[in-house]
Amino acid sequence: MNEEATVVENKSQQKNTNHLPVINTSCYVAGKKIVSENTLEVRSPYDKRLVGTVALANASHAEQAIEAALKGGPKLTRYDRFSILDKARQLLIERRDEFAKIISAESGLAIREAIYETGRAHDVLMFAAMESLKDDGQIFSCDISPQGKARKIFTTRDPLSLALCITPFNHPLNQVAHKIAPAIAVGTPVILKPSEKTPLTAIKFTELLYDAGLPHYMLSVLLGPTNEIAEPLVKDARVEIVSFTGSVAVGKRISTVAGYKKVILELGGNDPIIILEDADMDTAVHLAAEGSYRNSGQRCTAVKRILIHENIKNAFIEKFVAKSKTYTCGDPSDPATVVGTVIDEASAIYLESVVNRAVEQGAKILLGGKRTGALMEPTVITDVTRDADMVMHESFGPLAPILSFKDIDDAIALSNSTAYGLSSGIITNNMQHAIRFIKELKVGTVNINEVPGYRIESSPFGGIKDSGLGVKEGVIEAMKCFTFVKTFSMPW
Ligand code: NAP
Repeated sequence: MNEEATVVENKSQQKNTNHLPVINTSCYVAGKKIVSENTLEVRSPYDKRLVGTVALANASHAEQAIEAALKGGPKLTRYDRFSILDKARQLLIERRDEFAKIISAESGLAIREAIYETGRAHDVLMFAAMESLKDDGQIFSCDISPQGKARKIFTTRDPLSLALCITPFNHPLNQVAHKIAPAIAVGTPVILKPSEKTPLTAIKFTELLYDAGLPHYMLSVLLGPTNEIAEPLVKDARVEIVSFTGSVAVGKRISTVAGYKKVILELGGNDPIIILEDADMDTAVHLAAEGSYRNSGQRCTAVKRILIHENIKNAFIEKFVAKSKTYTCGDPSDPATVVGTVIDEASAIYLESVVNRAVEQGAKILLGGKRTGALMEPTVITDVTRDADMVMHESFGPLAPILSFKDIDDAIALSNSTAYGLSSGIITNNMQHAIRFIKELKVGTVNINEVPGYRIESSPFGGIKDSGLGVKEGVIEAMKCFTFVKTFSMPW
């Protein structure tokens, strides 16, 4: 069986009233738009139309951004920080449709995913606003041991003087919000280096934050040649923290060149959904499909491997292929489209090639497997060997490779057999089995009867092994990262 995935007809040549006018913008150094001859063109991955242009920064702009951040400005009280974040939250609600259209146009994500992403970014701003009001100190009484005396030690958190935040393309708004909102909540100035593939959303979000009252020294947004902007900033001793989300290769490079400073690395994954023999089949099918195809499969925590008990494999496959057909792919601006493009044609070509290689090694395509430009069909593929590239490495797209296991020991070993350790989803109604997976999987997160990507924006999030250094993000943890703890003690 090798069926065609549903591809909505290409309507790109027709006039599409869902499209915004071309956005001509630039990087910002502390609230000022830069002027530059050097511009980046941003094109739709779907139909290659021009979505916008960005005037790019150079090394002198990077220096100006550092100086402006370190010179600083009015110190923000907790209430100021709350008010800015809360105002930004309200503005994002008002501008939701504009943001969704920009996200979809520059990334190729389906408009329904882009609207969902604005909701997530709203929550990030809301949680950061709430957290900014909370006290962050602790008190330690010292007369609690024979060595103690009548003193108290107090802790307080001070903002770092400058953060460099580097973000990927796959959630053009939410990734940026997850860096900047916690930094604002604690009062740490940021230089943002967003993905060159999705710069327009990041720049619009910067403007929204200025409109919400963020003092300009608190945020600059820079794009330009890596050797003039990103790498020198990573190395600069005045940058006290580099917070990076992106690929393993770039994350490892950053860890070697950053030198003596805090580094947060949130890297790639190849998360499994593990379906046990007792699983509720409809739940398993629904979650496997949502995990594999949402956001065009371009979530760090997307389901990249479906591991299923061998006794229920055939029953699962039949229902899963039927379910997968409902994930229609096509024009991202069409509200009926469920799966948009991947980020560019090169990525789709790569995905098609890993599917073809898996087939050469004995795998069978049950649905999809083909691409048109940057549109990669939702692809169900079974009998994938355990060492196939598709499952040993991150396949950042709507691929659903199915592998079977014989028992729980086998499932745990198979799950732990790759270099990654981001998240996982376990589908079971057996509490004892669930607890074994929670204890034995070498990952940052285990979600029972949920997709690996399930989280709320304030809960701790992040991976281990090649997926990260085990330092968590999520609004509350990220706020801690952007501060250092000072202690002081007094006689009491
Ligand atoms: P990427 O290629 O690593 O790029 C990420 C960012 O790093 C971009 O802004 C990029 O800039 C910049 N960059 C590239 N080379 C650099 C260097 N030498 N020094 C400093 N910065 C540099 O990642 P991507 O393809 O955009 O994103 C997809 C990856 O992100 C996937 O692996 C995904 O799993 C991962 N991800 C992880 C998480 C998580 O929380 N664990 C979340 C989302 C995504 P340019 O655009 O200018 O190249």
